[in-house]
Amino acid sequence: MSSRNDQLFERAQKRIPGGVNSPVRAFRAVGGSPRFFVRGAGPRVWDADEKEYVDYVCSWGPLLHGHAHPDVIAAVKAAADRGLSFGAPTELETELAELICQLVPSIEQVRLTSSGTEATMSAIRLARGFTGRTAIVKFEGCYHGHGDALLVKAGSGALTFGQPDSGGVPAELAAQTLVLEYNNIAQLDALFAQQGDTIAAVIVEPVAGNMNMVLPRPAFLSHLRQLTQAHGALLIFDEVMTGFRVALGGAQSLYGIRPDLTTLGKVIGGGMPLAAFGGRRDVMQHLAPVGPVYQAGTLSGNPVAVTAGLSTLRLAMASGLYERLGDMTRAVTEGIAEAGRQRGFALSTCALGGMFGLYFRETLPSNLSEVMTADKERFKRFFHGMLEAGIYLAPSAFEAGFVSSVHGPAELDRTLSAAETVFSQIS
Ligand SMILES: *Cc1c(COP(=O)(O)O)cnc(C)c1O
Repeated sequence: MSSRNDQLFERAQKRIPGGVNSPVRAFRAVGGSPRFFVRGAGPRVWDADEKEYVDYVCSWGPLLHGHAHPDVIAAVKAAADRGLSFGAPTELETELAELICQLVPSIEQVRLTSSGTEATMSAIRLARGFTGRTAIVKFEGCYHGHGDALLVKAGSGALTFGQPDSGGVPAELAAQTLVLEYNNIAQLDALFAQQGDTIAAVIVEPVAGNMNMVLPRPAFLSHLRQLTQAHGALLIFDEVMTGFRVALGGAQSLYGIRPDLTTLGKVIGGGMPLAAFGGRRDVMQHLAPVGPVYQAGTLSGNPVAVTAGLSTLRLAMASGLYERLGDMTRAVTEGIAEAGRQRGFALSTCALGGMFGLYFRETLPSNLSEVMTADKERFKRFFHGMLEAGIYLAPSAFEAGFVSSVHGPAELDRTLSAAETVFSQIS
């Protein structure tokens, strides 16, 4: 008899392309059918067959305090009672803007959007409008949402023009985006020496979280800061994933870098559609209605979403929260890796705050081509074993994992004993 999950997936595929509203949910990288979730509480979720899981996806990052945190839900319900949207300013938006500027000091002014994609697209347009230049630089393996200018992959050979990384992206547009290797300082130097004065902006995930998780070499980020400054290009930190996730001040606070612009998303909405971009006041003053760069949104700064974000961030300000979160995340990832090594698997891990990387590979990778050498077949077997055992990991070897502030010793125990069993089964 087929499960209710399978039945729901079959039905969804008739009316929704691939049965999902965002591709990675479809389990294509690991095979099988995705789990349809019906509810979540704290660190756990339940699927349509009533099976319970410890959740290490956390909605791909937003749920810093787990599912349905009582404070967040109460605030959201009260906000909904007062009205879902006004299309006019509310005091809540200013409160959130003030809080973001307080927590991330490089942000002097901020504009709210509804998705990370909108935030990065708008930051790119703003950088072009501010500098009067066109070229954009990004790094292989970094994801900045699905805007045309950023769905671009490297051409053949370093320092060539980018090529579309999706159907429907015009080659002429992709050619305006240059794609370099993450952590490669020599390539950066060569590009800036050749055409640094034509570059509007460099956009980077200061800790890469969309090719599994890749840490920056500290010199990479500081070099990037120096080069962009020297050439009048803007440095955009895409902290949609890392903001309020790796630290209260984002990755920029951990590495001591002050970018010109920052994009935020995921955690700032606490599970509701909310994102933001902000930074230097003189740059932000180029945005409409005060400046010539147009950007807008009917539901931008939606009061219910802003309320979810405000209560999520206020909870994140509890003293010692990120230290405890970091300890738990390291205990989970190092515990899994240790269980694997005892069964002879080559594994490497990294963790910062509530974000982790886990590789079926001896050493941590520092760029996309190294990430790609991780053993995908082993990951698949591990993933399905863990899923069966009630541990929900991201359904791809190329995604980061997430731990919430309410994952505790019970979840850790359950995860590590599942890992021991699964490694013994697949070894
Ligand atoms: C998720 C993500 C985005 C896109 O955000 P959406 O809300 O999915 O549009 C952009 N940049 C980074 C670094 C992300 O992790």
